[in-house]
Amino acid sequence: MDLLVYGIGELATPIGQEPNRGAGQGELTVVRDAYVLVRDGRIAEVGAGRWPRFAGPTLDAEGRTVTPGLVDPHTHAVFAGNRVQEFLARARGEKYTGGGILTTVQAVREAPEGELVRLARPRLLRMLELGATTVEIKSGYGLTTADELKMLRAIRRLGEELPLTLVPTFLGAHAFPPEVSRENYIRLMVEEMIPVVAGTGLARFCDVFCDQGFYTIEEARTILLAARAAGLGVKIHADELAWVGAAELAGELSATSAEHLLHVSQSGIEAMAHAGTVAVLLPGTAFVLDEPWPPARDLIAAGVPVALGTDFNPGSSPVASLPLILALAVLRMGMSPAEALVAATLNAAAAIGLADRVGSLEPGKQADLVVWDAESYEEIPYWIGQNLAWAVVARGRVGWRSSPTPSST
Ligand SMILES: [Zn+2]
Repeated sequence: MDLLVYGIGELATPIGQEPNRGAGQGELTVVRDAYVLVRDGRIAEVGAGRWPRFAGPTLDAEGRTVTPGLVDPHTHAVFAGNRVQEFLARARGEKYTGGGILTTVQAVREAPEGELVRLARPRLLRMLELGATTVEIKSGYGLTTADELKMLRAIRRLGEELPLTLVPTFLGAHAFPPEVSRENYIRLMVEEMIPVVAGTGLARFCDVFCDQGFYTIEEARTILLAARAAGLGVKIHADELAWVGAAELAGELSATSAEHLLHVSQSGIEAMAHAGTVAVLLPGTAFVLDEPWPPARDLIAAGVPVALGTDFNPGSSPVASLPLILALAVLRMGMSPAEALVAATLNAAAAIGLADRVGSLEPGKQADLVVWDAESYEEIPYWIGQNLAWAVVARGRVGWRSSPTPSST
């Protein structure tokens, strides 16, 4: 797909195929009066001033701001049912301990694959409207081989059908199924689920909920070593509910990412910095659960690359909006708008192993970009709860427009 996007008032993008970190976390290239030329779904040229003559489809940004398409590196967007009762209980002041996951497991087990696709489709299209062009989605509401594979096949179908780039993660170790013993379930994951998931190519990563009341450090290590041996990348839901040493384990295993980290220790931060593990921070969860904000400044100071995601799920973070996450990061976590934008583009891409393909606007990368109805990228977290996305381009195609005009493609 070819496209020329011109009339860009401000283009703001990180550069490169490695995540930004430390003092460079917020490093952006900002170009005025810019254009982006797309050939075959990839960026051919980013320039300023007079745009090249072009016979193909065009999009006039009319002076608006352009950034890379946002990348959401952590969601549970495929599920059935809802947990509004849990939301209401929380609103009455009751404390969340994670038991609600099994409510969703029940609903997902009862739903056929096509139903999971039908339910997730509008959620993902809303995420696209809010500027996300790449979304990681985890399994983990099946907790049997058949139901986990059903979830992963639903993610594959959604990726084939929608303009979004989807990255599937196997999260069989999300909770413990009530019908089998803990030991037998872990053995089932190691001996059956992981080999099948890796063999069919239905997942790119394996993730474990390593936390108080969930998988222990030893259990997580066993599962993740099996996953790595099978060829899957390694991710960890780490130290969200309490400190258990999960970030230290992420460093030990050189995990691609450790996620949540609300209760991470200084030694865990240092282990991650040493291993180059990306911190995926999910302030939507802290907001909903009334937990401490993720320690973005400590992680940045230690040189850990920081990414941001929604953790979109029906329980602890029914948040599909990355722009809202950016607002929380700026107003509550001490991140600058530039650091937050990098966290939701290039660094998020690194957290899902795609920094060579998405997350920045430069020649060779996939042509994923957002035209924001704003004078500067700094307004994206500023207009809280509003959708400034005016056009979203995914793989060189206009995937969504807020108000089509006669000059549009
Ligand atoms: Zn999660």
